[in-house]
Amino acid sequence: MKELGFTTGNLHCDRAKSTEHGAVHKPIHNSAAFGFTDVNDLVRVFQGEQAGFVYGRQGTPTTMALEDRITRMEQGLATATFGSGMGAISATLLALLRAGDHLIASRFLFGNTTSLFETLAQIGIAVSFVDTTDAAHVAAALRPETRMVFLETIANPCTQVADLQGIGQLCRERALIYVVDNTVTSPYLFRPKNVGASLVINSLTKYIGGHGNALGGAVTETGCFDWAAYPHLYDFYKKGNPALWGLTQIRKKGLRDIGATLGPESAHHLAVGSETLALRMERICANAQRLAEFLAAHPQVARIHYPGLDTHQQYERARTLFSGCSGILAFELREGCDCLDIFRKFRIVIPSTNLGDNRTLALPVAQTIYFELGPQRRAEYGIAESLIRVSVGIEDGDDLIADFAAALAQ
Ligand code: PLP
Repeated sequence: MKELGFTTGNLHCDRAKSTEHGAVHKPIHNSAAFGFTDVNDLVRVFQGEQAGFVYGRQGTPTTMALEDRITRMEQGLATATFGSGMGAISATLLALLRAGDHLIASRFLFGNTTSLFETLAQIGIAVSFVDTTDAAHVAAALRPETRMVFLETIANPCTQVADLQGIGQLCRERALIYVVDNTVTSPYLFRPKNVGASLVINSLTKYIGGHGNALGGAVTETGCFDWAAYPHLYDFYKKGNPALWGLTQIRKKGLRDIGATLGPESAHHLAVGSETLALRMERICANAQRLAEFLAAHPQVARIHYPGLDTHQQYERARTLFSGCSGILAFELREGCDCLDIFRKFRIVIPSTNLGDNRTLALPVAQTIYFELGPQRRAEYGIAESLIRVSVGIEDGDDLIADFAAALAQ
């Protein structure tokens, strides 16, 4: 039978397993613990010999149903969910790296991820931050003890597009774990598995959930990495399919030991939100393209960053890799324009730090998420003092353009 499309498969995959009284939505399982009629089953689940649930910190039927959906969307082998995107990233790094290892990370990462990596550096994991728009920079940073490369597909806020293919090739040749944060593109616009990613991170809080009403994160195993050859896995987790050994360790360390668990209520919100990912992304990409073109032609705008514009440095790469350029764009104002004044004039756009919401959100970057860096480091990162980041939503395009036009009017 022909494989189901992205949205059909996503909507109906729950029903392929037990439907529980015919419920069309996967029920929310709030129980903290799970009991057994036969103690041998409890022992087998504990020892990894049998599938099942023992304690909510390590997952519930509700989180598992969401994991199945994300695995399907990413065309991976399996997924572990966490209480936030940062929970997923922390669990992955802490589970797989040890003191003495070296990590190569993009220098254009989400700020909290950069901050986490700086913390890792303090506990003996060396980190090199490089410009990942060219695989040659990653190659130049390699050391004998390099274990992992971590990057994002489209960087936030300045929308640099990583050399995903070239770095994938390099990681394959050097047997490095290749971790791709797919949050900004989402599995609807891009599947990191196709460029050889070993593990895919998604902050479910953003486009997958889409409604800004729940936090969550996920790590998906693609099957591209040879875990049997990886030296930092505990023998106890080397059971069953070797392709899943790495994810088993991430799950055990991140959920059981660290407790970065996704609650069942949030898992339910995120699963319901994910049903419309394809529809929302189509609208978001169309709105963002239109807004980017409008801003590019506006006399008050000095510079715009959006990979869907042919002036963007990685325009061709984005066109080849992604089926849309998503909804993040950033623009700088002409000298003399007051960046905060624009925010006071918005009627629809909400000043807010989140992204991937149905509503259009905007943020003055230098004054908020890059404030702690100070002017010198902001300049090194290419963050202009008047930079405004926009996360474009699903509003009617005419309304959005009108709101920006009014806010930018002198
Ligand atoms: N990855 C990227 C690219 C992000 O933009 C964010 C948050 O903005 C995260 C990860 C962290 O996600 P969360 O806020 O769910 O912890």
